[in-house]
Amino acid sequence: MARRGGRGGGHLGRGRSGGRSGADAGGAATFEGHNGGGVGRQAATLAAACGRLRGCDRRRLAPRMVRRRALERCLQLLAPSAKPARRARARRNPGAGRRGPSRCAGALGPAAEEQRQRRASARPPRQELDKELPVLKPYFVDDPEQAGVREAGLRVTWLGHATVMVEMDELVLLTDPVFSSRASPSQYVGPKRFRRPPCTVNELPRVDAVLISHNHYDHLDHNSVIALNERFGNELRWFVPLGLLDWMQKCGCENVIELDWWEENCVPGRDKVTFVLTPSQHWCKRTLMDDNKVLWGSWSVLGPWNRFFFAGDTGYCSGFEEIGRRFGPFDLAAIPIGAYEPRWFMKYQHVDPEEAVRIHIDVQAKKSVAIHWGTFALANEHYLEPPLKLSEALERYGLKTEDFFVLKHGESRYLNTDEN
Ligand SMILES: [Zn+2]
Ligand SMILES: [Zn+2]
Repeated sequence: MARRGGRGGGHLGRGRSGGRSGADAGGAATFEGHNGGGVGRQAATLAAACGRLRGCDRRRLAPRMVRRRALERCLQLLAPSAKPARRARARRNPGAGRRGPSRCAGALGPAAEEQRQRRASARPPRQELDKELPVLKPYFVDDPEQAGVREAGLRVTWLGHATVMVEMDELVLLTDPVFSSRASPSQYVGPKRFRRPPCTVNELPRVDAVLISHNHYDHLDHNSVIALNERFGNELRWFVPLGLLDWMQKCGCENVIELDWWEENCVPGRDKVTFVLTPSQHWCKRTLMDDNKVLWGSWSVLGPWNRFFFAGDTGYCSGFEEIGRRFGPFDLAAIPIGAYEPRWFMKYQHVDPEEAVRIHIDVQAKKSVAIHWGTFALANEHYLEPPLKLSEALERYGLKTEDFFVLKHGESRYLNTDEN
């Protein structure tokens, strides 16, 4: 079956839908009975998917992550009572943890490291947070009818962490919606957001589609899925990576399409806009024993007027160049810039700001918006470091700050993509 994602390309029900209509395509067909299947079959499917993308594969990543990190990650996710203490320590002095300061210091140089530790040593009071990371009321809360730009324009609103609302080509899209207080299986323990969501699900305008990059708790939030499904029901189409259909159906969502890498689909009745699950370098886990049993990815949204790329959660890999070759240039890309320290450990799963700029270049984004920072403390860097390092990296690459911009929580930016 053709897997092209060109503008105006046909839509043949590619991927696996909530209706189980038998329209499975390619790799999806080999992934039957996802949750009931054995690990071997799933691993084989993932390995096959990996093999389709040189240099961006999980054959290298997964064994490392699974063997070295599985236990620690499980403890983080499932016994998070230990986490706040570690996190707090990390914020006070990111170099003083058991991972050791020298590994980070080497990369930055002594002066920069000292400066970084000084910045990190002060835990910001609420007033500082309000000043540095203000939370604005999104424009649509008071005027939901305004949402949904037509034709050439594109508007993006950052709703914290990896959640952005994108209005393009007469559709309203949400990425990795997380409106809960914690990125955790429990709302009593686990990573707590230090900036509240700028709006509730009920304050959103009409949303046509949600893009899910993977199943980590800071990207796939059960409460938000339930709330969105209650509010929009079958009017809302969910695009998820291969293997997540059953989980979505257990949440009550019926308008779900799961895709393998490079497969495409569309919102029913709006087939001018093509949604393609594209690769990224990451991993999946939600419970003790489900490492990498489902897929992860980035999303390329290809409309007649605009193209949008959502990088999801990712390490740097050569796959982005291929995405750029196939689908670029993009009018807007949403690219993670946070949760990257310490590098020896994070680099396989999370890009740092410099690598984020390389993704911006690789996918041929005309503009990018920074995501995956300023909301949850998930790594060792100071909470304000990602945009600073982004700005430095942009300068090194001869780019302007408006080429890869940072928004306040709840802030929107309109891009007149006709002028790009
Ligand atoms: Zn993740
Ligand atoms: Zn994440």
